[in-house]
Amino acid sequence: MNKSVLILIFPLLFSCNNNEDQHTKNEEKVKETTQKNTPSPKVKGVSLVILGTIQDAGSPQIGCTKECCKSLFENPDHSRKVVSLGLIDTKNKKKYIFEATPDFIAQTKSLKNFCDFETKETPDGTFLTHAHIGHYTGLMYFGKEAMNAQDAAVYAMPKMKSFLEENGPWSQLVKNQNITINAIENSTPLQLTDKLEVTPTIVPHRDEFSETVGYTITGPNKSALFIPDIDKWEKWDINIIDAIRNVDYAFLDATFYDGEEINNRNIADIPHPFIIESMEKFKELPLEEKKKIYFIHFNHTNPVINIESKQAKEVIKNGFNIAQINSIFKL
Ligand SMILES: [Zn+2]
Ligand SMILES: [Zn+2]
Ligand SMILES: [Zn+2]
Repeated sequence: MNKSVLILIFPLLFSCNNNEDQHTKNEEKVKETTQKNTPSPKVKGVSLVILGTIQDAGSPQIGCTKECCKSLFENPDHSRKVVSLGLIDTKNKKKYIFEATPDFIAQTKSLKNFCDFETKETPDGTFLTHAHIGHYTGLMYFGKEAMNAQDAAVYAMPKMKSFLEENGPWSQLVKNQNITINAIENSTPLQLTDKLEVTPTIVPHRDEFSETVGYTITGPNKSALFIPDIDKWEKWDINIIDAIRNVDYAFLDATFYDGEEINNRNIADIPHPFIIESMEKFKELPLEEKKKIYFIHFNHTNPVINIESKQAKEVIKNGFNIAQINSIFKL
């Protein structure tokens, strides 16, 4: 459907939509975001930047006719990008990205724009967590139909590596040397620069095609834990509370807020830690520990995407944070 058809159709849809408040709010948000997105501040030292906060499928989600997405087809919110972190080391003039999402084009550009040094357009390394659509399909942009990259460095666990090497169309990226896959190992730190290392840790998740990892990213002064997808905390052989204690920031799977989003199905049956479950688990932690936690990887239905929602306010009132795109964390 071309743009002019869309322009004709959408006002008709909106004239039937009596939720004007939501609509106006979204419009305001779009304006605010557009302003916020230009230009990117430059990062100093070793820092993480948040390049996306949304679950694999994005927001709006294809086919969604509910309030959460309704107005976003006509008025996209450019702050809604699929979950990704950028990692910049200014002294060593290096930049890395965690996840190759469907928003990889914008996110690699944004990562470059955060850099205060001359650097190529693409990351010096791309770290993958697992083979679900939001986390690796952006690799396609390294291929022949796109930039036809030469040896872009990708870091992946053994099963993830074999999955890419043995299955088309990903195998073509390997064969054409658009990407070079470096194998990483569970619990084994990888030294990226003199004061920067990355350690993958296996976490329980739906592992149809690959294992799933979270990452600990350790800079000269601080460290961060990144677990965008995990089954319930209790299923992990590592105690999440200890894992949080060992870092300064923890970016944790917060796909859903509560049962309302899943039509009140039993949340115990859905293999993610719901925000209300995580808040319950972490409620006895001292405020200093709670403040390390940044919820991330939001399904399109998750009310906390709107920072003004009562659920978002509840999260913040309880001492936790909601990850926001373009935030910078010094390591
Ligand atoms: Zn995901
Ligand atoms: Zn939706
Ligand atoms: Zn997943």
